Amino acid sequence: MKAVLDHVGIAVRDLKEALAFFRDALGLEVEAAEEVASQRVRAHFVPTGSSSLELLEATAPDSPIARFVERRGPGLHHVTLRVDDLRAVLRQLRARGVKLIDEEPRPGAAGSVVAFVHPASAHGVLVELKQLMPPAPPPLKTLQVGDLELVLLSDGCFYLDGGAMFGVIPKPLWEKKASPDDRNRIRMAMRPVLVRGSRTMLIDAGCGDKFSPKLSEIYRLEREWNLQHSLAAAGVSPESIDIVLASHLHFDHGGGFTAPDTRGIVRPRFSRAQYVARRGEWEDAMHPTERTRATYLPENLLPLAEAGVVQLVDEDATIMPGVRVRRTGGHTAHHQMVYLESGGKTAVFTADLLPMTAHLPEVWIMGYDLYPLETLSFKRAFLREAIEREHLIIFEHDPTIAAGYIRERDGKRYVEQVA
Ligand SMILES: [Zn+2]
Repeated sequence: MKAVLDHVGIAVRDLKEALAFFRDALGLEVEAAEEVASQRVRAHFVPTGSSSLELLEATAPDSPIARFVERRGPGLHHVTLRVDDLRAVLRQLRARGVKLIDEEPRPGAAGSVVAFVHPASAHGVLVELKQLMPPAPPPLKTLQVGDLELVLLSDGCFYLDGGAMFGVIPKPLWEKKASPDDRNRIRMAMRPVLVRGSRTMLIDAGCGDKFSPKLSEIYRLEREWNLQHSLAAAGVSPESIDIVLASHLHFDHGGGFTAPDTRGIVRPRFSRAQYVARRGEWEDAMHPTERTRATYLPENLLPLAEAGVVQLVDEDATIMPGVRVRRTGGHTAHHQMVYLESGGKTAVFTADLLPMTAHLPEVWIMGYDLYPLETLSFKRAFLREAIEREHLIIFEHDPTIAAGYIRERDGKRYVEQVA
């Protein structure tokens, strides 16, 4: 864990007196005040190099700062450490029995999220942990397919080796479509879809929040905005999801199926949901080979089985009205895509058959695929179907194009972006 001193909070009884010292006597600059209405406090930041002092002034007699000053007099109130991944830090502290005031990050000043550690666990010091957030969450995109509303969610982005993502395609060709970072990795979205129809369904769930710092680094996770945020933005609580449907059970699709509870025990994340997967895929995940062991992670799946919430389907079937699954094979033996059909319209969640728009050419097939020739023949037929019948395709891993129509003009295929 890396933590940087962000600021030191000082409770002030009389702001004028405080300014006489910090501003006038020390000659420090005081920034414009920021009012934190929920805490009934006004904060005056005093930059001091890479960190700062925060003068805290109560704005009402029942403010926590007023009570603090009343009890202990003005003075040192808290120390704030900045961390990269607040959620991971809280998990780590919980695992070590540290007493927390906030079990979950909550909104702080200037778009940050914060959580307080109890002074009893921090040698009498009130410690605030803070994570800076990117300026704004990505907007939620919604598609209407007849009576079905599809909300394109986000579990953030991750990076995979570019060579592995394009199989036999040479780098000079693929790097024009997806430019690699200094470790040859390319950026990919994790885009679960919420289906609102006769029931509320989630298709896939991203990688979730259980990665160690080491794996987070290997996959370069960018998850400041993740599934939890986008579900909240869509107005959906985890308890309101009836069905969680898996395209397959690789970690970037099923990692978000489970989550640790407040005691750190990993449980089904959507407490009321039935989790629907293909039987063959489930069995393969339960008996991984040397080649699949790194992606079928027991913590994503076993808690579901233990809770008795797994429902296995043996073949192509309708999961709820307007939603049916179809086996593609190729990527894994039982990988499936999801047809969303209503009012004469069809959208298809193709999962790892067409992970990104860059995979549109038939032979641009992932090196991860266990049966690439099966991918090739299924993809060839499906592309023809998608063009002829004007299916709206949802690209689960494309970082910029979430959905579009595949068009063909003068023998050339391209994606007409819709979302
Ligand atoms: Zn994937």
